[in-house]
Amino acid sequence: MKEKFKQFMIGRYGLDQLYIGMLVLYFVLLFLSRWFMPALMTGAMTIVITLAVFRMFSKNISVRQRENAVYLSVINRVKQTVRQMFQRLNDLPSKRYRECPACGVTLRLPRKRGKHKTSCPKCGTSFEVTIKF
Ligand SMILES: [Zn+2]
Repeated sequence: MKEKFKQFMIGRYGLDQLYIGMLVLYFVLLFLSRWFMPALMTGAMTIVITLAVFRMFSKNISVRQRENAVYLSVINRVKQTVRQMFQRLNDLPSKRYRECPACGVTLRLPRKRGKHKTSCPKCGTSFEVTIKF
C-alpha cells in the first residue's frame, strides 16, 4: 500500500507551505461556520480543501512552486507587519517612531518630550522632531 502510494506520487507536487496555510484556513472556516453563515462557510471550505488536494496531486510543479512563492512573500510581509506592531507596542513607554522626511525610513527615537534635532542614519539628513507625549 505504502509502495503503491509512493509510485502514485512520483512526478507529483506534494506538500508545501501553501498546503499547510490552506489547511489552517480550512479549520478557521470550520471554527467560524459554527456562528457565522454556515452554508457559505461550508462552500468555502469545500473549495479550499479541493484546491489543496488538487495542488498536492498536481504534476505542473513549476506553477505550484510559483503559487507557493507568492504565498510565502505575502505571508512574510504579514508576519513582518505583525512583528513591527508588537515591537511598537513594547516600545510605547520608552520610544517614539518618526519618519525621515528625506528618505522615508522609520527612525526609533528615545521618548524625550519637546523639540529635538535628529539625523537620519541612512541618508544623513538632519531634521527637527517634536515628541508631545
Ligand atoms: Zn533619511
